[in-house]
Amino acid sequence: MRRPLLERYRDRLPVGPDTPIVSLLEGDTPLVPLKGPPEARERGVRLFAKYEGANPTGSFKDRGMTMAVSKAAEHGAAAVAAASTGNTAASAAAYAARAGMKAIVVLPAGYVAAGKVAQSLVHGARIVQVSGNFDDALRLVRELTERYPVTLVNSVNPFRIQGQKTLAFEVADELGRAPDYHALPVGNAGNITAHWMGYSELYEDGTLETRPRMLGFQAAGAAPIVRGEPVAEPKTVATAIRIGRPASWEGATRARDESGGAIEAVTDEEILRAYHYLAHGEGLFVEPASAAGLAGVWRWLREGRIEDGATVVLTLTGHGLKDPGTAEREVRLPDPVPPTLDAVARAAGL
Ligand SMILES: *Cc1c(COP(=O)(O)O)cnc(C)c1O
Repeated sequence: MRRPLLERYRDRLPVGPDTPIVSLLEGDTPLVPLKGPPEARERGVRLFAKYEGANPTGSFKDRGMTMAVSKAAEHGAAAVAAASTGNTAASAAAYAARAGMKAIVVLPAGYVAAGKVAQSLVHGARIVQVSGNFDDALRLVRELTERYPVTLVNSVNPFRIQGQKTLAFEVADELGRAPDYHALPVGNAGNITAHWMGYSELYEDGTLETRPRMLGFQAAGAAPIVRGEPVAEPKTVATAIRIGRPASWEGATRARDESGGAIEAVTDEEILRAYHYLAHGEGLFVEPASAAGLAGVWRWLREGRIEDGATVVLTLTGHGLKDPGTAEREVRLPDPVPPTLDAVARAAGL
């Protein structure tokens, strides 16, 4: 039977005998070998996708949330709060429901994908929309949790990063070694920090002989780490990484520098090309932010920056159903046809 993430990796996590484990049986997501793209196949580069959309609420945030909400429960919290571009809110709402706690989520009004809002609402979170961006929401929720008896469950809560490092453990378990490269989108930068922590712990205790080079990709309109300064008004179709002042900035640059990796920007056009390729070419439906890793790796492949025969893992961070709005904008639904065989066959292209 499937076991809670915190039980599977108990000895590598801050889980004590008195920690009540709040779980929805998260993690253990598929590591799917990709067929392409051709630029990889031709050169014997093996790409694997860690499909985090298979988590209970449809994103990797569940790995951190099971840890953060379990610790909040251990410390007797009655309520948790988070600022969110959407997936943290959905996950906090679900795990708080599971724990019988109240969840408060602060969202940037108008920039959260529909699926994530629906999840937060139906799980019963108290939703506060602010007319500002994610960075405003995070600042406010930090102040709120300092002033009121509510536990902050953003990735500035160190337990979130602890839970999220398990993704690296699963990849190492499955491959039996570290990949040569691990690529992922970077928003608030907690996840790249967590991935690097996970690989580094296995490397330091001798479980792994190498660590991957970490490749982080920001959206061009929201690329503070690439530019070296905060972005006041971040813009991108990839709402999950629409962040101008990442909380884990330092963790991200450390992961980049210690691993010999890179943090670069990809355009919305490149992100959407990767989004369509994953869905149509590989059968993996992801939300736009999740495609940023492949968008970047694709460019590295074209520029010959990844050596022949290398193993590359991509974290596909969230499910495509999270953001039906982008899908509908990207692919036009055809008009209805009369209910006759002829009309249907013609419309079906037969
Ligand atoms: C949160 C999130 C990200 C960004 O992760 P960070 O830890 O903030 O860098 C990327 N993609 C999706 C789908 C997310 O939910």
